[in-house]
Amino acid sequence: MILLTSDTETKPTQAMRQAIAHAPVGDEQKGEDPTVNLLLERVADLLGKEDALFFACGTICNFVAIKTHTRPADVVLAEQMSHIIRAESGGAALSSGVLMEPIASKRGIFTVNAFEQALERVSTAPYLYRAIPRLLCVEQTHNFAGGSVWQFDQLREVCDFSRQKGLATHMDGARLLNAVVATQTTAKDFAACVDSVWIDFTKGLGAPIGAVLAGTREFISEARRYKHIFGGAMRQAGIVAAGCLHALDHHVERLQEDHDNANYLAQQLSQIEGITVRDTNPETNIVFFDVSKLGLDTGMFLTILQEHGVKMGAVGHSIRAVTHLDISRPDIDFALDAISKIATLGAGPSNK
Ligand SMILES: *Cc1c(COP(=O)(O)O)cnc(C)c1O
Repeated sequence: MILLTSDTETKPTQAMRQAIAHAPVGDEQKGEDPTVNLLLERVADLLGKEDALFFACGTICNFVAIKTHTRPADVVLAEQMSHIIRAESGGAALSSGVLMEPIASKRGIFTVNAFEQALERVSTAPYLYRAIPRLLCVEQTHNFAGGSVWQFDQLREVCDFSRQKGLATHMDGARLLNAVVATQTTAKDFAACVDSVWIDFTKGLGAPIGAVLAGTREFISEARRYKHIFGGAMRQAGIVAAGCLHALDHHVERLQEDHDNANYLAQQLSQIEGITVRDTNPETNIVFFDVSKLGLDTGMFLTILQEHGVKMGAVGHSIRAVTHLDISRPDIDFALDAISKIATLGAGPSNK
């Protein structure tokens, strides 16, 4: 089965398993796991932040970061299709009791103007009545917009404006390293625009578990308490941190291959009759396309595709395909071949 569902579909390589097997370990909860500590130093350095904290996954990084930045009844502003608003089970409301204010955008990357309009909506009523805007969140790269990238200047402009308005800034950097590889801007430069930022080791970097949140010493010290309260403390977590360290050393530059494969997939898909590709030049590793012209809904299409040996996912009414470490160019060709066959047969009897 060719798994294009997500870049989380990777299995640890033999070399990563070796690194995991030989990792020195200690008590993470007490700050005594040497492998976790090494990973935190490496990530803090990569992101140019004072301190960092190890988590099992990205969702809890957002959950804890929002809690650390806000007080209940504050407003958190984020792009309207951001992962924080659309795909975290309402976690920000649960952890932090905050109101979310969506910011409009075309492809996940919003302008200062759109942000200002959202801030004005929040500030319509007199001080007594309005909720206080406290935090701006940005997503790099933007998942549901198709892995779109904030260019450095766009990001800096929006974050500078946010700071002038007295808000804290947080980056959901699940795929920040994809943006780094796509733009040649350093992770440090992107991260300097925001107060807190995290990266995910299970999105394309090929690790089985792990995300690291970074910020000032003070921010991380406070975040550590919330991580503990919410059940995020671990013991011999070096076992998994070793996989993350291995990913940092071996799986970052190769993200370019995933971007090239996504580009090839998008280009070739756009040649198939009945397939509408949202962006034929995807910036990173995510491709969205539409199959309604084939007379198939997304569910039917995915079921038939799976019978042909290929798995993809759906986001709303679009199909989403994500390239990663375990996907080669021949795998993409196999998937294209399967989709060509489905497109030729359309919604005919053999496809029902
Ligand atoms: C996957 C993802 C998350 C959540 O990360 P997990 O490690 O799956 O919990 C958050 N934000 C974005 C943009 C993501 O793509």
